[in-house]
Amino acid sequence: MLQLQYPSLLQAGYFINNEWKTDTSATFPVYNPATGEEIIQVADAADTHATAAVEAAHAAFAQWSRLPAKERSNILRKWYQLIINHTNDLALLLTSEQGKPLAEAAGEVQYGASFIEWFAEECRRVYGDIIPAPVADRRFLAMKQPIGVVTAITPWNFPVAMITRKIAPALAAGCTVVLKPAEDTPLCALALAQLAQEAGMPAGVLNVIPTMQAEAVGKVLTTHPLVQKVSFTGSTEVGRILMKQASSTVKKLSLELGGNAPVIVFDDADIDAAVKGTIASKYRNAGQTCVCANRVLVQRSIYPAFMEAYKKAVAALKVGNGTEEGVTIGPLINTDAIEKVERLLQDALSRGAELVLGGQRTQANSLYYAPTIISRCTTAMELSREEIFGPVSAVYIFDMEADAIALANNTEYGLAAYFFTPDIHKIWRVAEQLEYGIIGVNEGLISFAEAPFGGIKQSGYGKEGSKYGIEDYLAIKYVCLGGM
Ligand code: ADP
Repeated sequence: MLQLQYPSLLQAGYFINNEWKTDTSATFPVYNPATGEEIIQVADAADTHATAAVEAAHAAFAQWSRLPAKERSNILRKWYQLIINHTNDLALLLTSEQGKPLAEAAGEVQYGASFIEWFAEECRRVYGDIIPAPVADRRFLAMKQPIGVVTAITPWNFPVAMITRKIAPALAAGCTVVLKPAEDTPLCALALAQLAQEAGMPAGVLNVIPTMQAEAVGKVLTTHPLVQKVSFTGSTEVGRILMKQASSTVKKLSLELGGNAPVIVFDDADIDAAVKGTIASKYRNAGQTCVCANRVLVQRSIYPAFMEAYKKAVAALKVGNGTEEGVTIGPLINTDAIEKVERLLQDALSRGAELVLGGQRTQANSLYYAPTIISRCTTAMELSREEIFGPVSAVYIFDMEADAIALANNTEYGLAAYFFTPDIHKIWRVAEQLEYGIIGVNEGLISFAEAPFGGIKQSGYGKEGSKYGIEDYLAIKYVCLGGM
């Protein structure tokens, strides 16, 4: 049994109108991927609960949206502080349901909380405009108002941060929210709701509905006429479905979808920085992030030196239960995830890739996969097009700068790209030519509340974090004053 210092953070109901309810006959299990043990049974909300949650959010909107921004800000700040105060419990909850090492989980809790802190500050600076009118008797102004009820559908890889990144700007703007967390990781979402209530969030402003019935609940969240905006992070495949559904009532959308991030190591790169940055990008969360290096492109002349250092550093990563001291790679989230990694690796090896390190589970029938490197990859391999989402580095060799850029851009995705070079001219040239929404230069960790996160091409649209993040939850209203 999971022992928390503050047991109220382990909730198993659904949360509507600031009330925990378990009045559904159905429940579903949440497992610890490190041990396979069931942590708890959680209420399985149905489409009727989704409708009730949307109605609650709609009823709460009038009051919440009219509160002075400073009052919303105060509640968000309190929520931020409570999350920080409970970092240890939240990290343990996160590691238990998701698997990432405890230190990484604590880092995610703080990173997740930073979006609440940031948007508590930003909401006091939502300015409109006075616009010079072209005629003498009129005055123009543009005001910004919260868009309305927002629904959020989130993935399992960041059970705290993917949620706060969406709902903090929404709540700060004055919107009310219905959140459907991923079925693998509902517990952090429910703990966040508990703390929001303790921070003084009024009833109906934030509603959380865990469910196994993603399709039926998702349908309500993307088609209900009272919902004005849908914010989704997940696969491009599901993003397409949600986009289609949301079109029936012309909802605004933010979509943060799949990625196929290249890391380019140029021949003038600092090898230590390139190794450190590539590992940070590739092996964080056991390779299960949409900005993880999916393709490592190394210039031919630096290839032997880079590979030697990279192999040594990757071999030093420690796989195990995330609660154990010193572990840097936890289990993958579930059987589907590990089988996908195995399928992609098999395909690559059958098409001529060379196995440099790892290449199998560390224990049979577990979700632990050894940190792996394969080399001499080509575009004929499935992993050049698909997200690996596991601890496998796929290395490609290139000759010219133009080849690297062409290879990097040869994908339907456009989320994050990284490259390593000290040459400032090359930095400008390459950064301008890479078709990606986020570029890391000599750096593998690029996500901060202050910076705009989001992709182009089929990685979606909309920005999370930064001064732009709150705009996604605001509508501009133009007011024309006549007879002046
Ligand atoms: P992943 O492959 O990372 O699990 P998904 O896109 O399948 O990504 O899942 C991301 C989120 O989308 C999860 O919360 C999941 O429950 C939800 N989801 C999956 N299918 C649907 C659907 N048809 N409608 C609404 N939500 C969905």
